[in-house]
Amino acid sequence: MPSSATEKILKNSSISRNKEKKWYVPTPENHFTVPSQYYLKEDWELYGKFGHHTGTDYGGRGKIGIPLFCCADGEIIYRNVANSAWGKFLGNHIAIYIPSVDKSFLYCHMADEPPQLGLIKAGKQIGIMGNTGKSAGNAIHLHLEGFHGRFNITQRSFRSIDDIKIKTFDAHQFIISRL
Ligand SMILES: [Zn+2]
Repeated sequence: MPSSATEKILKNSSISRNKEKKWYVPTPENHFTVPSQYYLKEDWELYGKFGHHTGTDYGGRGKIGIPLFCCADGEIIYRNVANSAWGKFLGNHIAIYIPSVDKSFLYCHMADEPPQLGLIKAGKQIGIMGNTGKSAGNAIHLHLEGFHGRFNITQRSFRSIDDIKIKTFDAHQFIISRL
């Protein structure tokens, strides 16, 4: 059994680790822990001509007003609104570039017009989960995609399943591995 002094030290060290936390969940924990759809899930009716889900979905489970958070220190390098050409599919959406890992995270279907471009801190709220654009299942959810490097919307014109696998990665597993 650890002494109470040891317990106190352990407790304090976990507090200091939390202060240095570099990565955050993109949705509240209870929505993040059990995604409503996984990366590369195969469904030829739901997922367009290549039949595979390009991101991870976190369901809103009928709730409105669920906050979305920036997953790490980075920069909003791209934003677009729901009534734009891409927004018709992705709704209100933003891409955050995370230089420490040279990867980008695309948040889609947000309820409101996306925040402006610029630097953003880990854990900061970037919007509210919504159902804008053309969302599979037609329910409030966050569709989160991971892209290698600095995101450019032209990267999203996928040519094949292999192309999807080359350009994107499992953002959900990646974030879990860093929490
Ligand atoms: Zn999705």
